[in-house]
Amino acid sequence: MDSSRGQERADLHLHTTYSDGALTPYELIKKAKEANLRIISITDHDNVSAIDDAIDIGRDLGVEVIPGVELSATVAEKEIHILGYFVDCKQLEFLEHLSMFRRERMRRAERIVEKLNSLNVPLKLEDVLERAGTGSIGRPHIASALVEEGHADSYREAFSKYIGYGCPAYEKKYQLSPTEALQLVATAKGLSFLAHPGKYLADGVLLQLIKAGIDGVEVVHPSHGPDNTAHYRGIVNEYFLLESGGSDFHGGKKNDDNFFGSFTIPVDWVENMRRRLF
Ligand code: AMP
Ligand code: FE
Ligand code: FE
Ligand code: ZN
Repeated sequence: MDSSRGQERADLHLHTTYSDGALTPYELIKKAKEANLRIISITDHDNVSAIDDAIDIGRDLGVEVIPGVELSATVAEKEIHILGYFVDCKQLEFLEHLSMFRRERMRRAERIVEKLNSLNVPLKLEDVLERAGTGSIGRPHIASALVEEGHADSYREAFSKYIGYGCPAYEKKYQLSPTEALQLVATAKGLSFLAHPGKYLADGVLLQLIKAGIDGVEVVHPSHGPDNTAHYRGIVNEYFLLESGGSDFHGGKKNDDNFFGSFTIPVDWVENMRRRLF
């Protein structure tokens, strides 16, 4: 018996340079090791390209890496995020959809830059592309470019003045329904979780997702206070769902270093997930 097992911690929500995170998978896993995490999941937006190597790196460093992904879906004009865990990163239909979402992200970045230019903000697409590298391009790359090229005073201002929801250079993403997102995770033989519901969501939407077959809810997240976490754990128990959590760490300009290691879950929750896989 390993009596320290109950103390072991996991962080199942982390981003890398394969989407809008600042650290490479190696840098992230090293940081996880230093923070004494036993299990992590890398959940890049619309991308699982980090996973294969990350599993090997994790094996070398003694951190288990669970395959993950974060998808965006739309409910009543609002965006929600669905986390997929234990996804099969070789499943073709799943990979083709992720490629399509990334292509759509690129087209959206182009539209945002065009809008900025028409607002007399002379940001160049290359300035954004060089920050995204080969990963899924997102607004955080545009925000960083706006700050570093001198068009916004801060990362926050880049959103509040230009690219945040409802702002003059805002552009929607590809519109996926929640049911389609859940189906896609199921196609990849993964488990689907509603990400950070406290950020945006009425319980009615969560109930619809439960009816549509969602497997669990992310109950631990920096946007959740203790009341949110207790509330969503109550729903999880009532509907026999799984529970998840993590720091949603991105690093870099997001300035969220204090979240790393502070928003974790017991590894037992991951074992509960494994028992639900078939
Ligand atoms: P995207 O996936 O391209 O829509 O970018 C979404 C990401 O941008 C979110 O995960 C946040 O990290 C960031 N973001 C969105 N809105 C804001 C905001 N108002 N202030 C700061 N960051 C934001
Ligand atoms: Fe992100
Ligand atoms: Fe998210
Ligand atoms: Zn995230």
